[in-house]
Amino acid sequence: MTTSDEITKNCYVCNKASTHAKIMSTNTFGSPDLDTRPPEMERSTISMWVQICPSCGYSSSNISEVNEKALEVIYTDSYQKQFKSPEFPKLANAFLCFSLIQKTIVNIQKQDGIVFMRHGHAMMLIMRPVHRNVE
Ligand SMILES: [Zn+2]
Repeated sequence: MTTSDEITKNCYVCNKASTHAKIMSTNTFGSPDLDTRPPEMERSTISMWVQICPSCGYSSSNISEVNEKALEVIYTDSYQKQFKSPEFPKLANAFLCFSLIQKTIVNIQKQDGIVFMRHGHAMMLIMRPVHRNVE
């Protein structure tokens, strides 16, 4: 069973407070997919994998954690355009913004790479309804 709670965090970038869902516990039955997508119930926690600051758009797995590389990216026009894009659902924008920050980190460690793959897969899951609406 997955349990979650609401937590208030202060953004590392702008220091404004916002509320986010946090996974308190989850479980899995079976093996992950070849693309590292976890089995249920963890799979359904996708909306809690990334936090995004509603004020400045900083996106991270923990927006209160220091990430100096984020400062190089989030105030760029392309980042802010993605953050405010009406073309994507809010969750998709959070993952896309997260990936823009991750691209600036040169030494992505193995575990981060897996997280990045998960986020890439999350994009596919999130975007499916959008594609259905277009058809
Ligand atoms: Zn912020």
